[in-house]
Amino acid sequence: MNDDCIFCAIVSGTAPAAKVAEDDLTLTFMDIHPATPGHMLVIPKRHSDDLLQTAPEDLTATMLSAQRAADAAKAALGADGVNLLNCTGSAAWQTVFHVHLHVIPRYRDRGRDRLVLPWQPNVPGHPETLAALGGQLASALS
Ligand code: 5GP
Ligand code: ZN
Repeated sequence: MNDDCIFCAIVSGTAPAAKVAEDDLTLTFMDIHPATPGHMLVIPKRHSDDLLQTAPEDLTATMLSAQRAADAAKAALGADGVNLLNCTGSAAWQTVFHVHLHVIPRYRDRGRDRLVLPWQPNVPGHPETLAALGGQLASALS
């Protein structure tokens, strides 16, 4: 619990939210600024600032709750697909520093869904650059 955290306040009930689902470790609720109809947020109840700070048990539970939320978006709202999004760090659009997964229902109907991919697809990377960066990452992971 972090006293300055809006999502901790939602967990404790001191701030309002449209709750969707809850279990021992996670809470799912509606995003107040929905990207598409049905946009949800899934959080571990235990505070951590971001993905990299989150305990494995909480990460696992959060992903499993997100899977259930995605399934509900298709079953209840007729979503044609779902995007899961996590933002880690302000450079990656994180604005609330309590780790969360966005569950964003997607619709083929452009009247319900005007999201576009935020990068240009099908632009190939240079093979030498891919190999060099992949090597740096592999070293960091080994
Ligand atoms: P981020 O940019 O950190 O990945 O996403 C934070 C999300 O939290 C945003 O989509 C924003 O609309 C949502 N949000 C911020 N404050 C509140 C709040 O008080 N209640 C709810 N339900 N969502 C919030
Ligand atoms: Zn918090």
